[in-house]
Amino acid sequence: MALVAMPATGQPRTVEIHDRLVPTAAAVRHVALTLDACTGRYDDDLLQFLIKYRIPATIFATKKWLEANPKGVSAIKAHLDLFDVEDHGENHIPAVIGAGRKVYGIPGEPDIVHLQREVSQGARAIEALIGIAPHWYRGATAVYDAQAIDEIGRMGYKIAGFSVNADAGATLREGAIIERLTHVKDGDVIIAHMNKPASDTAEGLSVGLRKLLAQGFVFVRLDQVNLQLLPPARVASGRR
Ligand SMILES: [Zn+2]
Repeated sequence: MALVAMPATGQPRTVEIHDRLVPTAAAVRHVALTLDACTGRYDDDLLQFLIKYRIPATIFATKKWLEANPKGVSAIKAHLDLFDVEDHGENHIPAVIGAGRKVYGIPGEPDIVHLQREVSQGARAIEALIGIAPHWYRGATAVYDAQAIDEIGRMGYKIAGFSVNADAGATLREGAIIERLTHVKDGDVIIAHMNKPASDTAEGLSVGLRKLLAQGFVFVRLDQVNLQLLPPARVASGRR
């Protein structure tokens, strides 16, 4: 995927991948909810809300989160009719390669062998603890360089971007989350977080997602669909 060009000088460019559901001929509007379980804890309020309202979601979990949150793992495994679990890496390291490189202050991978381990060990943990072999990968911070994009694809994983950033890393207040969800349209891929129970994410999603249900949106999981890339310009600046 020739998505990221190497500039003439300086560090390789990185890209935040944005995509949407491949359009279908169906009359209903589809939307995918993706929830990152990076590191940290388990937001039980959020999962119980999704279970109560029968809202499917794709959970991007790290090995680190899975091992630290047995209660969360149990809740997911009890509802595999609703939840798909995909690969968010072993230790939540961004998919940028090169000594000293960072994304939002988080160090990336020193070399490609470390990236391979991050991806493969994340997948192995999901197979061991959930019993699902993942097919999608989302790197920590959702930022990638060209070498990482190529290698993740070579390893057999599709990269999952997003088109609506609902909670800005679980930092937004309830009202702001609800506001962002009012912009959801057919084919959008929502990103939010399920690893910070003290945040407003569960509160905001519980209001905003119920509104989408009331509008007739049908929620799909990434193991049921394919995604297509959006040019960066297609993502409105106010929605990132
Ligand atoms: Zn993450």
